[in-house]
Amino acid sequence: MPHPISTAFPAERILLGPGPSPVPQRVLRALAAPTLGHLDPQYLAIMDETCARLREVFQTKNALTFPVSGTGMAGMECVATNLIEPGDEVIVGVNGVFGSRMKDVMERCGATVHAVEAAWGDVITLEQLTAALAAHPHVKLVGIVHAETSTGAHQPLEGFADAVHAHGALFAVDAVTSLGGHELRVDDWGIDAIYSGTQKCLSCPPGLSPVSFGERALTRMDARKTKVQSWYLDVSMLRKYYTGGGGGGRVYHHTAPINMTYALHEALGIVLEEGLENRIARHAEMHLRLRAGLEAMGIGYVPKRSLHSLNCIHIPAGADDAGTRRRLLEEYGIEIGGGLGVMAGKAWRIGLMGHGATVRNVDLVLAALREVLR
Ligand SMILES: *Cc1c(COP(=O)(O)O)cnc(C)c1O
Repeated sequence: MPHPISTAFPAERILLGPGPSPVPQRVLRALAAPTLGHLDPQYLAIMDETCARLREVFQTKNALTFPVSGTGMAGMECVATNLIEPGDEVIVGVNGVFGSRMKDVMERCGATVHAVEAAWGDVITLEQLTAALAAHPHVKLVGIVHAETSTGAHQPLEGFADAVHAHGALFAVDAVTSLGGHELRVDDWGIDAIYSGTQKCLSCPPGLSPVSFGERALTRMDARKTKVQSWYLDVSMLRKYYTGGGGGGRVYHHTAPINMTYALHEALGIVLEEGLENRIARHAEMHLRLRAGLEAMGIGYVPKRSLHSLNCIHIPAGADDAGTRRRLLEEYGIEIGGGLGVMAGKAWRIGLMGHGATVRNVDLVLAALREVLR
């Protein structure tokens, strides 16, 4: 029987798609705490602690680490608009929807974008990047997606920053689907700017985009000749509020999404209680468990080097794409994702993110799929 649709009481789905991921009750309770003013000292203490927790999860000492108001795409726009000036040449890795979006966003910032492309499902190699840098030596920034959610490809990043920095360029990374679920070392890997989202491996509702900017990025922003095009995302103003830096103490820029900050604070608390290493290991384990089950059913993976947080699989021959996903939702309350972009109708995306990456969910989705595909 289909679940009855109620606008008053949303159903409790098992969110195993490309995001949002299941939100633990502790986070929902935090969201419901009394709303404080955005300059209330008690709120500022919560915000400061949230930024400190973000530094731990990003594995960075960057002072300028904070949650941008908006979803992951706001983080992408924030990084692009603050670090690019019209006329700048940039390199972007394009091997899926999110790399294509990054290219589009950077072009809208006035950049000339040189795309380094790989087939959907493949990753960008260091050799490709090195060749592109040699061909375009005046590049100011290199952008790459760590976890390409549209194909499930897991992009290696180690060693990339050295090549980028050798050309005096900045290294910017999309970590929306990897933060809190995959190994990600901002300082050790030489990442200058990074953004993520709350509703993937952090298991918080959508609405904030954690970002972090290192010293090189700050120097670049301070040397800008032109104003940042976006008023809302201009870090030179935002940092006065988030870090109290730049003189004058904390000043109003826009009203922070107070209750979302509570939720992120709690979600990060849960990550740190579990321990980052343990959490990353759990994501790896659950991926292997799901993979073994799918492969036993004859279902293969799209990417050669798969993410743990997002499993992009070939739709088995003869299976009804939309019908299968509808039955999973209606009969089992399970959401999985369809294919995105060129993968539409060809792939399913099973997310095992944060609170969703459990033995219970893996075994449940395998059993449900087996039943529906019978
Ligand atoms: C989900 C996602 C985004 C966009 O985040 P929104 O929260 O949907 O705005 C960007 N990049 C990647 C890799 C993503 O998976």
